[in-house]
Amino acid sequence: MSFSDIPVPVGPVYEGERIRAKQMYVELGGPKIDKHFELVRVKQPKEIKDGQVTIHGPDLKDMKEGERYPIGILVEVAGEQLEEDLEAVFERRVHEFCNFVNGIMHLNQRYTNWMRLSKTAYEKGFNSLELLGTVLIRLYKAELPIIKQAQVTFYTDPKAIEKPYEMAMGIYEKRDERARTIHDEDVDMFYGCVLCQSFAPTHACCITPDRTSLCGSINWFDARAAAKVDPKGPIYEVPPKECKDKLAGEYTGVNEMIKKRSLGEIDRIFLYSGMEFPHTSCGCFEAIDFYIPEVNGHGIVDRNFDGVAINGLPFSAMANQTGGGKQMPGFNGVSIQYIVSPKYQQYDGGTETIVWMPKAVKDRIGDFLPQDLVPKIATEEEVQDLAQLKTWLQENNHPIVETWADMLEEEEEEEYEYEEEGAMVPMGTVGMTIPGAGGVGGFKIILKNCKVHAEAIIIKKIDSKGKRKK
Ligand code: SF4
Repeated sequence: MSFSDIPVPVGPVYEGERIRAKQMYVELGGPKIDKHFELVRVKQPKEIKDGQVTIHGPDLKDMKEGERYPIGILVEVAGEQLEEDLEAVFERRVHEFCNFVNGIMHLNQRYTNWMRLSKTAYEKGFNSLELLGTVLIRLYKAELPIIKQAQVTFYTDPKAIEKPYEMAMGIYEKRDERARTIHDEDVDMFYGCVLCQSFAPTHACCITPDRTSLCGSINWFDARAAAKVDPKGPIYEVPPKECKDKLAGEYTGVNEMIKKRSLGEIDRIFLYSGMEFPHTSCGCFEAIDFYIPEVNGHGIVDRNFDGVAINGLPFSAMANQTGGGKQMPGFNGVSIQYIVSPKYQQYDGGTETIVWMPKAVKDRIGDFLPQDLVPKIATEEEVQDLAQLKTWLQENNHPIVETWADMLEEEEEEEYEYEEEGAMVPMGTVGMTIPGAGGVGGFKIILKNCKVHAEAIIIKKIDSKGKRKK
């Protein structure tokens, strides 16, 4: 496969390239654009014009530098062995293949896709979506040889994107609806995915019926279809083997898988916990489940929410802390679909611990949550800070309030431990001011959701004059 006719280099080496706002020529999709999507559909061979790229709306060369535009990417493929279950798995490859292009940054998936084209790539001649479509078609056919024909359609006009966007949303919902029909105990095989290892080398998704992949794109049915057609590919079977803890969702087979795929970095995962041995998080998660120690509950923030979550942090700040393939108790990357599963963080108390989420997420999943709980979950419309949240939860009889008495008892016990042994200091959100010389100036440290264990803290004054010795 050659890309010699493409004005910028193309290859896996460019995955992970970041394009900052100052470096970008244009932005396509993303949180500031209303409608955008990417979708793959399996078609009959006669419905495809192999190699054809169509653009509805302004092409890159017609766009104004520094502006944002909608983007819809519809990839249609045909091949004898193709089936509808493979669509979502093929769709996830849009992310990877776009990122192969030096000068294109692609983030997220489905209706959260977000792209930037760099000024440098544009100046080198990458000035048409025709070029991107051609790259996608070549890569799809080369990397997935069961695809025999492919065509790509782009939508960049706000009017033209409306209909295909609605169609895409309907298809995502159909896939999610099907995923809600089965549960982990109904199957004897789980699946793993390592597509995100180029960004998060120690991350591997474990995809089960209850735990749709973090990106929300690949459910258990999709993973099963992908592993069947390409057993040695990035999506593979994970026999669960012995269940060590039903509540936590700990399986020996899953532990073995993560140990092997994280190259020994991680050896234990609780599928249904965000607090103990949580599933690793890459960077593509649809939402973050975060613990709020002040109310002993959990908040959820999705990547479309552009405000500040109830803990005072925007999604982007929490995403930096959560992602990268780490296990980060208290911050767990999740799919929206997993939130409505009966297994949702059941080891930590389950759905009943959810106290806050953005209004848009609540509107989207409210019908699938326990109906008596829904009116007790606060959103940005009802509360703006933790004090208001606390009052709201009490006034609305949220079940989490019943745990506060236990929490206080535990805190007292821990405080006692601390006084007796100097062991562990439990911290909610605590500000400490360290005074400077003579009690003036100094600096402030804010500690959120952490426990500090130290035998001693030594703060030394650095003699800056001494350091500048020549
Ligand atoms: S988030 Fe998980 S399932 Fe989705 S592409 Fe990444 S590794 Fe695969």
